[in-house]
Amino acid sequence: MTRLTRADLDALPAYVPGRNVADLVRELGIAEAIKLASNEVPFGPLPGVPEAVARAMTAAHRYPDMGVLELRDKLARRYGVSADRLVTGCGSVALAEHLVKATCLPGDEIVYAWRSFEAYPIISAGAAATSVRVPNTPGHGHDLRAMAAAVTDRTRVVIVCNPNNPTGTAVRRAELDRFLDDVPSDVLVVLDEAYREFVTDEQVPDALETYGDRPNVVVLRTLSKAWGLAGLRVGFLAGQPDVAAAVRKVVTPFSTSLVAQAAALAALDAEEEVRRRCAIVVGERERVTEALRKLSLEVPASQSNFVWLPLGDRAAQFGAACESRGVIVRAFPGDGVRVTIGTPEENDAFLAATESALT
Ligand code: PMP
Repeated sequence: MTRLTRADLDALPAYVPGRNVADLVRELGIAEAIKLASNEVPFGPLPGVPEAVARAMTAAHRYPDMGVLELRDKLARRYGVSADRLVTGCGSVALAEHLVKATCLPGDEIVYAWRSFEAYPIISAGAAATSVRVPNTPGHGHDLRAMAAAVTDRTRVVIVCNPNNPTGTAVRRAELDRFLDDVPSDVLVVLDEAYREFVTDEQVPDALETYGDRPNVVVLRTLSKAWGLAGLRVGFLAGQPDVAAAVRKVVTPFSTSLVAQAAALAALDAEEEVRRRCAIVVGERERVTEALRKLSLEVPASQSNFVWLPLGDRAAQFGAACESRGVIVRAFPGDGVRVTIGTPEENDAFLAATESALT
């Protein structure tokens, strides 16, 4: 058969979304299943968001504001970053993709930790860039010294996922300062802070506040997690104005939809509720971590809204055991299992499933 697509993509693993709840309920014949697989916050949309979405729908036959001015202005005020440095998009994963498109030519190198966010290899391959994966430390965190050492004259981008998905670990200010000093100024450093709102370690820097003036730093943030908009797809990128302008050139036109813009504006008005929810998630994260450790499981300290169980060869089996008990977690076969922090009841169900799976 005539080949119509790129042969190099055959070897690329597809992005694996968390398993569908409805499918599992049907398969097991149970009343309900719990999904702790996609790092969403479980408390529903923020107050004011459904109403804002309903209002926006009356204009859904029109294209949205392509410049996303109102939202960028609001983000600029909230985060203390001028609007010309901000680009919004269809989730921060799309912005990472656009950024790579704006920086890499085929064969250029992108350095990132591994294991880290599973979209990075896909994004790199999509641009025909070469992935350079730097193994995590034995403590499951980024090895920033090794990452800096992996930079060559072909490297265009280094991605630091802080906190790291899926291991939950975070790098601290002193380490990151040294790393940023080590990376050449013509290499872009992407600080992916999708889980920033769950960070409680004061030594883990807020990159927008701390590194905003570094010309080669770009920060990615999302409204999918703490801000409850995973289903509407809004993320943003903050970089120097020339970097932001280059990214804007390759963004899919109108990709921050009319409804997404309205939802994001409403969500940003509900920050107090976001803080309240994040505090619950953080409290539960600590409780779940402690309970798992009591079961003699290794659990790296998490700064995000999930925990990582480095189970190695037992990961797939553990994931399947949780699923058979109606709790969907995210197994990375041969490596570990990531478990999103849910409501206290959901976490209890996960802990019960774990206990029964281990005995
Ligand atoms: N970065 C990291 C580290 C993530 O874990 C995720 C979501 N899984 C994203 C970015 C993308 O989030 P979104 O596209 O929903 O904004």
